[in-house]
Amino acid sequence: MVYLIIPVAILVVAFILMYLYAGPFYKGLPVLVYHKISSTKKPDFLTVSASCMREQLEYITKKGYTTIFLSDMIDHLEKGTPLPSKAIMITLDDGFRDNYTDLYPLLKEFNCKANIFIVAGFVQTPDNLGPRAEGEFMLVEEAKELCSERVQYGLHTMYHKSYHHMTLEEIDEDMRLSKERLDYLGIPYQPVFAYSFAAHMSHEPVKQKAVFGILKKYGVRYAFKVGDRLNKFPMQGMNPYLLNRLTVTGSYDLFKFKMATIGFIRIVKRFERIMK
Ligand SMILES: [Zn+2]
Repeated sequence: MVYLIIPVAILVVAFILMYLYAGPFYKGLPVLVYHKISSTKKPDFLTVSASCMREQLEYITKKGYTTIFLSDMIDHLEKGTPLPSKAIMITLDDGFRDNYTDLYPLLKEFNCKANIFIVAGFVQTPDNLGPRAEGEFMLVEEAKELCSERVQYGLHTMYHKSYHHMTLEEIDEDMRLSKERLDYLGIPYQPVFAYSFAAHMSHEPVKQKAVFGILKKYGVRYAFKVGDRLNKFPMQGMNPYLLNRLTVTGSYDLFKFKMATIGFIRIVKRFERIMK
């Protein structure tokens, strides 16, 4: 009997702590990160099926969440503009073409907003198919159509190279080129960046500080990493260049998605690892 009581007690205590940490007393902003949303491809780490995405949008809508833009977050942080009581931010990295073909209809259906951290050099134009011309990235007209209504863009490097492997001079040039190309294509973007490969140089504090300086130099005021944690708002000492996002992968069922939205997913993943 005692063998049963101990684990149950641990679970009860863990849930009470989680409730206090991420429950209604906790003013956190969940920022979800996706990559591909596909009705044809098999789900994997980067690909969430369109049917799962539908289920997730249905869930957040039913639960009374309001999806927000990057600019809403900025206005809240800088001008104190209130956010909706249950705000959530959907972000997608890279600018895959299925964001237009498969996600866009769902955003319209559920009246949701999303934010895409777009790789500037991968945006496809008729005269410049870019270095990865597989046709899997959005065409410039598609990118523009999306942002006229449902989507805002943020920066995500020029060619999706990891800043971890680049010199400061290369990073400076990369930031300049990505802004220049989006300006040239007429794609508007918010002053927000997402580190490609989640490379935010946590083990290189000197380089990290220098990169923050480069971001600042180019007018970038916020940057997102991936950390499977909520952002505690007001920011209370958080570094604006190290904001958190919660990964949603193709293997998440609705339970895991729910756990992600309330900031419990790290605990769930840890529990899964223990049980293996
Ligand atoms: Zn990326």
